[in-house]
Amino acid sequence: MKTIPHMIGGAEVPSRTGRFSPVYNPATGAVSAQLGLADAAEVDLAVSAARRAWPAWAATPAHARARLMFRLRDLLERHTDRLAAIITAEHGKVLSDAKGELQRGLEVVEFACGIPQMLKGEFSEGVGRGIDSVAMRQPLGVVAGITPFNFPAMVPMWMFPVALACGNAFILKPSERDPSLGNEIALLLKEAGLPDGVFGVVHGGKPAVDALLDHPDVDAVSFVGSTPIAEYVHRRGTENGKRVQALGGAKNHMIVMPDADMDQAVDALMGAAFGSAGERCMAVSVAVPVGEAAAGALIERLLPKVRALKVGPGTDPEAEMGPLVTAAHRDKVVGYIEGGVAEGAELLVDGRGLTLQGYEDGFFLGGTVLDRVKPGMKCYDEEIFGPVLGIARAPDFDSALKLINDHEFGNGSAIFTRDGDTAQAFLSGVKTGMVGVNVPIPVPMAFHSFGGWKRSLFGDHHIHGPEGVRFYTRYKVGTVRWPKGIRAGASFSMPVLG
Ligand code: NAD
Repeated sequence: MKTIPHMIGGAEVPSRTGRFSPVYNPATGAVSAQLGLADAAEVDLAVSAARRAWPAWAATPAHARARLMFRLRDLLERHTDRLAAIITAEHGKVLSDAKGELQRGLEVVEFACGIPQMLKGEFSEGVGRGIDSVAMRQPLGVVAGITPFNFPAMVPMWMFPVALACGNAFILKPSERDPSLGNEIALLLKEAGLPDGVFGVVHGGKPAVDALLDHPDVDAVSFVGSTPIAEYVHRRGTENGKRVQALGGAKNHMIVMPDADMDQAVDALMGAAFGSAGERCMAVSVAVPVGEAAAGALIERLLPKVRALKVGPGTDPEAEMGPLVTAAHRDKVVGYIEGGVAEGAELLVDGRGLTLQGYEDGFFLGGTVLDRVKPGMKCYDEEIFGPVLGIARAPDFDSALKLINDHEFGNGSAIFTRDGDTAQAFLSGVKTGMVGVNVPIPVPMAFHSFGGWKRSLFGDHHIHGPEGVRFYTRYKVGTVRWPKGIRAGASFSMPVLG
């Protein structure tokens, strides 16, 4: 059985803790590898290597760090097919979707290629007689990224290209469920010319995360995952004096107004609810048709399409949706469907009990639709993270908006309408960090920043784009006078520049 090592100081380092976690192929249910899990001592190896490598990397001019990003960009493009196959083998998503996540990650590398422009400082001449001001942003030191299973390439790539380009060393702690992409990224960064130690990968679960959160030489932590862990990581990291951005879970609603193009709205819902088997933090998990006529029109068009969804292994080019990541997660999602029915939701399409010939042990679940879900039901209040679309009917726009604004999560939201006033009122009034108007999954481009509101994000900074640069740098302002100006002797009152 293959074992997956850490990547420390530019080399493979097998774990010696004797603790392992199985990695599955979700389509077949077979164990493909054993992942060695780090303890605090192994985390310390990676942090120490990063700390040693950091000063020289921070002193490398920004345009030279950017050149490395250009080389990484080319390597990622050249290796896309191979990397996508690894993602599909461990995560389960269909190959086209795996390539899509690589593309969105690549766009952050492209953003990082322009880092000299982003790091340009500010200068004010003559803030006093003979005195100038200069403002700059400097790297933090060693920063860590702790990432979820659902985007094993894209989420790490939201973080490390910006962190490295800003002059930090970076340690990645990938999800235990699909860990191999992290090691592949380390190898590509080495091939691109990154000095050993500047990027490391440590694998593990809670003990590894806690060791990163407690390590005095880790200056900042970026986390993406579920809300309870995001809140915990933010609390423990900030208590230890670190800068932390922790992105959490979601329940993204899509309002469908009666004037919407219903065919367009239904196609959008299909991809947004069932793409990647619903295992996306920006998946639409609740459709909110406004008015009974819109609900009827939507459901009439939607149900045949959900029943016709092509579920299969991610390697099948015909498949639209692959399996869930583990059997345990599939069973948890099934529990939400059972609970929803018990709480009074109407099961319009039931994806349970799906088996595929030749893949009987895979973690498959068919597309499911639960109608008349509402606040107070677990299947509405909580994130399901599976191919289950809830329908929450609203009598008018204001009640639809209130439904979203009252929900504990505030990641993304969308509205489908042809009416400009309604679209504007939604964009302005909705309490989510990312908003789509006739766009179901409004993931910002790499040169903007990604992040939610409410309990979908803990901390002050969204991720990648300008907010990412601010997160991975600290601000410094110099007030500068050259010696010939110092003639007046000591002054003990608050300096006023004149
Ligand atoms: P998760 O919270 O279980 O795991 C995320 C990371 O935290 C992993 O690296 C894991 O090893 C670590 N972890 C797990 N339990 C821990 C514990 N008790 N203590 C310390 N660390 C722990 O999340 P997941 O199941 O891998 O990913 C799915 C979740 O991620 C969903 O809730 C989804 O909405 C969220 N997500 C959010 C965004 C976003 O941008 N807001 C993006 C992608 C995924």
